[in-house]
Amino acid sequence: MAQKTQSRSQKEPQSLEGVLYKELQDIYDAEKQLVKALPKMVKAASSEELQEALEEHLRVTEGQVERLEQVFERLGRPAKANTCEGMKGLIAEGKEAMEQKASEPFGDIAIIAAAQKVEHYEIASYGTARALAEMTDDADVADLLQQSLDEEKEADEKLTEVTQNLLSDLPGQEEEMEEEEEESEMNTMRTRRRAS
Ligand code: FE
Ligand code: ZN
Ligand code: FE
Repeated sequence: MAQKTQSRSQKEPQSLEGVLYKELQDIYDAEKQLVKALPKMVKAASSEELQEALEEHLRVTEGQVERLEQVFERLGRPAKANTCEGMKGLIAEGKEAMEQKASEPFGDIAIIAAAQKVEHYEIASYGTARALAEMTDDADVADLLQQSLDEEKEADEKLTEVTQNLLSDLPGQEEEMEEEEEESEMNTMRTRRRAS
C-alpha cells in the first residue's frame, strides 16, 4: 500500500510546479510532432505564399523546441516529452485536409483551416503554461513561454492573411473588392457630410 502511494506521488503532480512541468511535457511533444508534420504540409500546399508561411513557421517551431529545453533547464527538470493526444488529433485532421483533392485555392484554404486549429491549440497551451509560471513566481520561465505564445499568435495572423490573399487572387474577386471599396468610400463621404 505504502509503496503504491509513493510511486504515484512521483508520477502525478503534487504541486503547481508539478502541473506546469506536466503541461510542458505535453507542449514539448506537441511541438516535436509539428516539426515532423509541417514539411508534409509544405509539400501539400499549392501556393508559394502558403509554402513560405509554413516553412517560416517550421523554423520558428524548431526554435520553440529549443526554447522549451531552456525552460526545462531553468526548472531543473529533465526535458521529457509526453504524448500530446490533442496535437495528434489535429495533425490527423490536417492530413485529411491535405488528402482531399479540392480545387485551388480551396485546397490551400482547407490546409490553412487545419493549421490555424493547431495554432489556436498552441495558443491555449502556452497561455495556460505562462499563467502557471507566473503563479509559481517564475518570471524567467513565464517570459520564455510568452515569447512562444507571441509567435503562435503571429503565425495565426499570417495564415489569415494568406487566406485573404488567395481569395483576392480569385478571378472576378478584384471587381467585387473594388465595388466594396467604392461603397465604403461613399459611406465615408456620406458620414462626413452628415458630420459637417
Ligand atoms: Fe509552436
Ligand atoms: Zn496536448
Ligand atoms: Fe505553431
